[in-house]
Amino acid sequence: MDLSVEHGCPQCGAPVSIAESDRFSFCPFCKVSNYIINPTGARYALPCGESLDQESGDLYFIPYIRFRGSVFLVSGREISHRIVDTTQLGFTDLLFPPSLGLRPQAMKLLRVSPQTSGRFLPLTIKTQSILARAANLSAMASGGDSQILHRAYIGESLSFIYMPVRQEEKNLFDAVTNSALSPVPTDTFLEERSKPFQRKWQSDFIAALCPQCGWELKGEGDCLAVPCDNCDTVWEVSAKGLQKLEWQQGESQDTMAMWLPFWKISTAIPELSIRTFADYARVTRQPSTGGRPKKEEMMSFFIPAFKVRPKVFLQTATRMTSAQNLFHPAPGGGHISRRYPANLALSEARQALKITLAASTLNKKEVYPLLPRIRFTNVCAKLVYLPFHDDGHDLIQKQSGVAIAKNVLSWGKKL
Ligand SMILES: [Zn+2]
Ligand SMILES: [Zn+2]
Repeated sequence: MDLSVEHGCPQCGAPVSIAESDRFSFCPFCKVSNYIINPTGARYALPCGESLDQESGDLYFIPYIRFRGSVFLVSGREISHRIVDTTQLGFTDLLFPPSLGLRPQAMKLLRVSPQTSGRFLPLTIKTQSILARAANLSAMASGGDSQILHRAYIGESLSFIYMPVRQEEKNLFDAVTNSALSPVPTDTFLEERSKPFQRKWQSDFIAALCPQCGWELKGEGDCLAVPCDNCDTVWEVSAKGLQKLEWQQGESQDTMAMWLPFWKISTAIPELSIRTFADYARVTRQPSTGGRPKKEEMMSFFIPAFKVRPKVFLQTATRMTSAQNLFHPAPGGGHISRRYPANLALSEARQALKITLAASTLNKKEVYPLLPRIRFTNVCAKLVYLPFHDDGHDLIQKQSGVAIAKNVLSWGKKL
């Protein structure tokens, strides 16, 4: 479930409310649109209870890691996956609730800013360990004692949510509900371990204008790659700001075509001696798709750049990757409409390479034992829009026939 977040409009200060996964913020008061950039991850806090006297006691923020996304696991000869949506405690030196449960859904989160008074406790465990515990990987592994060969977390959201606590002498209170928590061992226990708001945590609001030509970029909630309709560029909303993306599009004469975005990630896999698509087809023993794998065509993975549930995600990545010699994408240009928003980040798509390789290979016996050692080199990514036609029930990719149920796409957006 998407959480609701409130922040002050950077232009006029009015309170603006958006969904947690949104990167685009429109202020209904001053009509200004911005992209929100979180250079070191998004940080939110549960709001303090209104009846509380802010002056009483010292305020501290306890970190929880919020993850929502898909977890994939390869163990033995099996691949399993599940959706994880959780908020887990990240500071374990004192007794706090292990999870925030449904609380973040029941209230509007506040974006942490320099105006947030109080001190912040650090994570005492690695995010990866928190995620592994949250996903309950041991229960996912098939056959109990099968060796875990690979795990991947494809995140739609990964953020900090702070729970405010109030300290009076050695007594500690939940600052949202005012209920008592376990006391601190010494008066200075939390003070010594915490620090004030750090500048690098601050969210940047940048104008939704094309950095190249100044044209207004159309925003859409959680869209992470935005095309400029004026100069045919595409911009990635990344932690570093708006970054120009290399992009391509497939072939279609159909004016009614739907264009779905994919991350085309070209790479070599030295461990398996894979450099070209022909190498890949040979090593993974792909059935021929009919197209002629050109000898020198670099191996590329085609990973959905949109959110869908894990089963569909992996199926689509696998089928599209195996059919890559049919697409013939060319540098993008010219106005195309009906583009489905790219709302899965490139950084997350990169996490999907190994799981896609594992899912595509028919040669499990030779490839799976190598999975832990496999590295991807010479990685180069482009955004590619490929044409699909609507047959009423499914969207069907023109050249390969890969079908994606329409209801899966809308489902993915709401996940
Ligand atoms: Zn405003
Ligand atoms: Zn432009």
